[in-house]
Amino acid sequence: MKLEVVTIGTELLLGLTPDTNAAELGRALAAAGIEVVRHSSVGDRPEAIRAAVAEALDRTGFVITTGGLGPTSDDMTKHAVAELFGKPLQLNEDVLRSLEERFRHLGRPMAATNRTQAEVPEGATVLPNPRGTAPGLWVEERERVVVMLPGVPSEMRGLLAEEVLPRLAARASGMVVRSRTVRTTGIAESALAERVGAIEDDIAPLTLAYLPSVDGVDLRVTAWTIPEAEAERRLAATVAMLRERAAEHCYGEDGTDLAGVVLQQLSSRKTRLAVAESCTGGLLGGRITAIPGSSEVFAGGIVAYDDAVKRGMLDVSAALLKPHGAVSEEVVRAMVAGALRRFGVGAGLAVTGIAGPSGGTPEKPVGTVWLAAAFGQETSALKRIFPGDRAEIRARAAQAALDLLRRLIGETNP
Ligand code: AMP
Ligand code: MG
Repeated sequence: MKLEVVTIGTELLLGLTPDTNAAELGRALAAAGIEVVRHSSVGDRPEAIRAAVAEALDRTGFVITTGGLGPTSDDMTKHAVAELFGKPLQLNEDVLRSLEERFRHLGRPMAATNRTQAEVPEGATVLPNPRGTAPGLWVEERERVVVMLPGVPSEMRGLLAEEVLPRLAARASGMVVRSRTVRTTGIAESALAERVGAIEDDIAPLTLAYLPSVDGVDLRVTAWTIPEAEAERRLAATVAMLRERAAEHCYGEDGTDLAGVVLQQLSSRKTRLAVAESCTGGLLGGRITAIPGSSEVFAGGIVAYDDAVKRGMLDVSAALLKPHGAVSEEVVRAMVAGALRRFGVGAGLAVTGIAGPSGGTPEKPVGTVWLAAAFGQETSALKRIFPGDRAEIRARAAQAALDLLRRLIGETNP
């Protein structure tokens, strides 16, 4: 089944509150086999709410809203929807009693405005909300359904799980929307698309999306509203094909972190790791130590930001630094060799580059980064020129360094 989501709140349009409700609804509904075909946001204005819900109903016949159910004057979702259905608001005695009970329990007097939260559109099903004062409301008439949920994310989540999904599951009957992701890095989106080829027709009704980020390009395959067993079978076949075509560029699936992959490779080869970082300033060490159990493999790192630290802590000689500059193959190789020596380990990574926004030259523009990976007797070094701002360049450099080591280990000791 298909539906639309309308999130309500002026703060969402102003960008003051990220719309986490829409994201959460998208995930939870997809997992339950329900396709969110459109999501829109409107401010706290009755005519805007009415128009958004009316248009969504005309298109899809089923709408979930969040927000605007509170007791104050900027909360008017209920009024707008009641008007749309031509229903009056009526005081619901059960809701009023549970509101009064809630305030008694908290030892606080109930404000008169809270009484308005007990008013519901005539004929609406009340969805009890034990986490807050505004209940959810389910209004249904002649194949048109509007489900109103509160804006507070924890209340929305509770009502969704306890009241909405069970009702929707009964309608969706055995169908699922399910995705799997093949993660790649070190290859551009267009080059990856060439390798993968025009498979859209072959994998239909599944769909394929290319999702580029600083970590690389994810290939996400989605099965839309088909029986669960068929979805799993088709997804597995498509993922296997994508992995084969992405070949060495693929480092895992779904939530796999490249740092975790590298730690796993090193762990199974009983080799410890150290890092020497200039422009990433600890980001690489951060990525590695974010993985539980990294202490088994990771010895430590040196943030060699200043050239004096490259010389003093990593024994990078002035004879290399002077003629070649800190951002050079000679220096990055000396940095990784220095890290292996200092920490007495068998694997290392080094990064040196220009993260910008200043410091670029015609020969070495902003984004120029030299990376080195060492494993056993082998060292490989690579120059990349990364796009993006300072934060992106640093993040891409950390990911590319990890990838260099992943590939080196794969080649020298598969
Ligand atoms: P409301 O139900 O509109 O009174 O919203 C109550 C609280 O939930 C406010 O603090 C909002 O900022 C927050 N909120 C409302 N809508 C959303 C949303 N779509 N995503 C995340 N938070 C929200
Ligand atoms: Mg609001």
